[in-house]
Amino acid sequence: MTGRPSMDTRFVHAGSDPRQQHGYVNPPVHRASTVLYENVAALDASQADPLKRRMPVYGRFGTPTGRAFETALTDLEGGHAAVATCSGLAAITTAILSFVRAGDHILVSDSVYLPTRKFCNSLADLGVETEYYDPRTDKSIEDLIRPTTRLVCLESPGSTTFEVQDVPAVTSVCRNHDVVTLIDNTWATPVFHRPLELGADVVVHSATKYLTGHADSILGAIVCSEETYPAVRATAIRLGQCAGADDVYLGLRGLRTLGVRMREHHHQAVGLASWLREQEGVRAVLHPALPGDPGHELWCRDFTGAAGLFGLELAPGPGKPAVDALLGELRLFGLGHSYGGYESLIVPADPVTHRLPGTWTGRGPLLRVHAGFEALDDLKEDLARGLATLSAHTRA
Ligand SMILES: *Cc1c(COP(=O)(O)O)cnc(C)c1O
Repeated sequence: MTGRPSMDTRFVHAGSDPRQQHGYVNPPVHRASTVLYENVAALDASQADPLKRRMPVYGRFGTPTGRAFETALTDLEGGHAAVATCSGLAAITTAILSFVRAGDHILVSDSVYLPTRKFCNSLADLGVETEYYDPRTDKSIEDLIRPTTRLVCLESPGSTTFEVQDVPAVTSVCRNHDVVTLIDNTWATPVFHRPLELGADVVVHSATKYLTGHADSILGAIVCSEETYPAVRATAIRLGQCAGADDVYLGLRGLRTLGVRMREHHHQAVGLASWLREQEGVRAVLHPALPGDPGHELWCRDFTGAAGLFGLELAPGPGKPAVDALLGELRLFGLGHSYGGYESLIVPADPVTHRLPGTWTGRGPLLRVHAGFEALDDLKEDLARGLATLSAHTRA
């Protein structure tokens, strides 16, 4: 083999060294608080700078299992180093707190994950001003940058409404102004989108979703460039941020099959989304892999595939009882939050209550759909039954 192994090979082997674990393919789960030192000299050595020491010190600073997860994800994102966190939201808040001080201004995409938005709003209490920008903003982000701007947060595509951002345009402007860029890559995963290669400084993940992939864990990760890593690691240590032993194990295990799972999610979602587009009672399907979607061209340029999560905007008209009747009719689509597992899900999603005026122009009720691995025809049949009920309610 010459040069760097391809992504598929790296999914299987990144961060893995079976010789270090008696030949077993998978690492053990280290459930750890105390680490015993052989003697006082070793104890003294453990006091070294936490960014530099390589030895185990205390469970909160990480375990070999956690390190394997961080190493593997760093390799896949093309970063310098990563920090595992107890949740995706903790990855976002820890990363943001690593860069902002009182008096700073930050720019945040209007389409970010709602709890990210709520956290950014709360930064006002610390003297940090948050300004939201239209996710369609490209190099014109320059007009919004002030002398006090420290950080620009991106998420592409956006939660709920799935706008694709012009990541290289935003990051190149930010680089010129010495502004750090942070992007939530939960939707695409490094299988389909590698924002560090497009100029971003920090990538955050809710590993709860696709990385773990089985709806059985809460986990986050921050993947950093060389320049941003020291600040992020130091903040994580200061905050007492760490991930659970079983969760990092499940995250690492999930990475091994991420490539094949994501390709199947792509196939399922595109099949379902293009079919839904043709159905009566549907106004729009928000999925950037569909030709004609507003984000399609940027998606073709910057992504190599698409996740299973997309928006379904119903034709305007039906009230809550009719939408509830649609949801009540479904047998395969679970009614629940999160996504990224093997199962299909659906939830109502209402961006209108918290967005800037004008950045979301949908008119009908919006649902968020996750295409899992059930047979595509079964999923279509389930939704067809729901849509028939909706139309009966709308006519009644
Ligand atoms: C779910 C999600 C998060 C939060 O992740 P948790 O692991 O639930 O804390 C952050 N960003 C995006 C885009 C998400 O979908």
